[in-house]
Amino acid sequence: MKAVLDHVGVAVQDVEQALAFYRDALGLQVQEIEEVPSQGVRAHFLPVGGAAIELLEGTAPQSPISRFLARRGPGVHHLTLRVDDIRAALAQLKTRGVRLVDEEPREGAEGALVAFVHPSAAHGVLVELKQARERGARLEVARLPFGDLQLTTLHDGPFKLDGGAMFGVVPRPLWEAKAKPDDRHRIQLAMRPLLVEAAWGRMLIDCGAGDKMGAKERDIYALDRRRTLDAALADAGLGAESIDVVLATHLHFDHFGGATARRSDRLVPRFPRARYVIRAAEWEDATHPHERNRASYLQDDFVPLQAAGVIDFHVGDDTIRPGVRVVRTGGHTGQHQIVFIESGGRTAVFVADLIPTTAHLQDAWVMGYDLFPVETLLFKKPFIREAIEREYLIVFEHDPQVAAGYIREARDGKRFVEQVL
Ligand SMILES: [Zn+2]
Repeated sequence: MKAVLDHVGVAVQDVEQALAFYRDALGLQVQEIEEVPSQGVRAHFLPVGGAAIELLEGTAPQSPISRFLARRGPGVHHLTLRVDDIRAALAQLKTRGVRLVDEEPREGAEGALVAFVHPSAAHGVLVELKQARERGARLEVARLPFGDLQLTTLHDGPFKLDGGAMFGVVPRPLWEAKAKPDDRHRIQLAMRPLLVEAAWGRMLIDCGAGDKMGAKERDIYALDRRRTLDAALADAGLGAESIDVVLATHLHFDHFGGATARRSDRLVPRFPRARYVIRAAEWEDATHPHERNRASYLQDDFVPLQAAGVIDFHVGDDTIRPGVRVVRTGGHTGQHQIVFIESGGRTAVFVADLIPTTAHLQDAWVMGYDLFPVETLLFKKPFIREAIEREYLIVFEHDPQVAAGYIREARDGKRFVEQVL
């Protein structure tokens, strides 16, 4: 069990006097005040580093806090340790004969699961275990008629990446309000390939991570392979053989790992009938990796396609099929491209890693993963302006909740997404 300190609860007789010390003298800030009438308690939360001090006052004479104060006077009331899996933690404690107050976890504030360990087992301290509620990725398949085309947002399951790397130079207090990291500093993401159906056939734009990763990498990236692209295609009434074209935005594993599959001891194209469309210069970069991008360009994801003779290289910005054209953004990789889908006077844009999630709408929120972050900024700034003014439907490849929507701008300049899918 890996436990981290979540907060220390301090029972106080007079919260104003307590704040005079904890807030005014120590210089801590009150982040939140929470009242739980059923427990007869009010709590002031003051963050300290990654944890918090929780000042607890009784609001009813018979509440647990009031009784604690009457019996013991003010002081440390409990400490709360956060664990990844509270049921496993309780089972582990039980096998060691630790006396528990709660054998089964119960629901705490903000949908967390909590359980108390008896103070006698913890040498006089009431210990609370807590498993924070994790909002997993929304994995749904949604169809949208789009002029003469049909767009379907698919998914290849959830995964996680380092929160700091996802937001580059943006300080953590700013980004963690939008994307809460887990205990390994990772944030929840999804992989969402887009299916375009037209008279000319079915195109997949990017194709997720696929299933070639070993256990160690699956753990690092929290790849959960229970519901993946095969299931998403099946939900759409399709299979791998239904796909005519697979178009790459770039060849990183979380975008193009799904292009190949292991069959017994061979690597083969995952979509047996498909042509794979790849930007020639991106192929050059991907097949000549250096120290900074080697972990993202996994040769098994794309080299077997060449041996199978299924690649159509395109040079520069181009129309790939009627209504589908690519535009190089650079930035994330030297040749990273986005896909414009145009039909019936409407425009949708598959923005890949230019705007990976709805938390990246402000111009300067550029990923630390990007090889050329200033290039990302130079493309992104006018692009978002254009997307707002011309009402492009933006397809977000990595957002854990939102598959597609319109970028709007409030009067104060704050941007948000009006979710469509
Ligand atoms: Zn990506």
